Amino acid sequence: MDKRLSTRVNEMATSATLAMAAKTRELKEQGIDVIGLSLGEPDFPVPDYVKQAAIQAIEDNYHSYTPVDGYGDLKNAIITKFKRDNNLSYVPSQIVVSTGAKQSLANLTMVLLNEGDEVLLPAPYWVSYADQCKVAGGVPKEIATSIETDFKVTAEALEAAITPKTKLIIYSSPCNPSGSVYSRKELRKLADVLVKYPDIIVISDEIYEHINFGSGHTSMAEFDDMYERTVVVNGVSKAFSMTGWRIGYIGGPEWIARACNKMQGQVTSGTNCIAQRATITALENPPSKIKFMVDAFKERRTLILKLLADINGFKTNVPEGAFYVFPDVSYFFGKTLRGKNINTASDFSLYLLEEAKVATVTGEAFGDPNCIRISYATSESEIKEAMKRVKAALD
Ligand code: PMP
Ligand code: GLU
Repeated sequence: MDKRLSTRVNEMATSATLAMAAKTRELKEQGIDVIGLSLGEPDFPVPDYVKQAAIQAIEDNYHSYTPVDGYGDLKNAIITKFKRDNNLSYVPSQIVVSTGAKQSLANLTMVLLNEGDEVLLPAPYWVSYADQCKVAGGVPKEIATSIETDFKVTAEALEAAITPKTKLIIYSSPCNPSGSVYSRKELRKLADVLVKYPDIIVISDEIYEHINFGSGHTSMAEFDDMYERTVVVNGVSKAFSMTGWRIGYIGGPEWIARACNKMQGQVTSGTNCIAQRATITALENPPSKIKFMVDAFKERRTLILKLLADINGFKTNVPEGAFYVFPDVSYFFGKTLRGKNINTASDFSLYLLEEAKVATVTGEAFGDPNCIRISYATSESEIKEAMKRVKAALD
């Protein structure tokens, strides 16, 4: 900690996913053969039709600053996508395009939270939610779930966590890190609680919407009585393998969208012009064009679950979406492996990195200290080799 820095940044945790990715890169550069299963990043190339749209945008001399909240025709493509995929209706003033869904989320916490406002985070939750809330002055309040209930929050647990200070609830479905998908019925039960507390705003992170293995996608905003206070966050990083292109977006109440526009105008301005043009093409094409990636993720899920079941001590649920497994590894706590004491999920994840040369992320970063997150957005051969190494390091 450096006293010259702000308390704000000194008290902020480093993103565990990005830290592990950096460590993996560093080890690889040293010539160490590490298999990176830490980062949630599809390994497919960007679809050709999207690449062509970006090339065309360069040829067409797109180069200037863009409107802060995104090109008008991109907003229209997002509106059409929301109607086509989610049966949600928006007008352009309800849409804001940002530099990744990460910025969409950061904008939201910055414009909605005051000092001391509480934010409900059903745990496990995506790594950046808690620290983004804290930076904005909010107080994250985790709601525990369990692997037995597929890591989903129940209506009772939600209601018990609400206080007069509750301002927001943030969750992802499909969920990073658990892969759980809330059904319409489950979401309706949560909505039945939330309608009793009209001041609570819902941030529904749907960035894994298309990476769903069959259970169907529902957005909280589809419920008429929740539409007015739900903000849907989405983006192209996961479905179109465009993580480095940095495009995320929201659809939500106009008063919130306007505030995000204002915030973004002082922080980054409008996002990259070429990536925005390419996103229009990505969204205008039907989701069936990217189904081959989803099918591949599904096969990899089956493979990794089978291989994990073969290793003593891993307890897993069956993820219905995204590309992560989130096994409970508490069986290993209190044990000594090759002279190393394993007392926490961080110890365990570090052990796998050092002894198996396999990078994962500790569940502590996601609000669940019994688990680790394994990303299977990599080839089947890497998954097989990684699990072989893990098994050998634990046998
Ligand atoms: N939300 C969730 C649940 C995620 O896993 C990610 C991963 N990157 C993001 C938001 C942010 O995505 P991006 O900034 O790449 O659009
Ligand atoms: N969302 C991905 C993950 O959870 C990318 C890393 C990040 O943005 O934190 O691994």
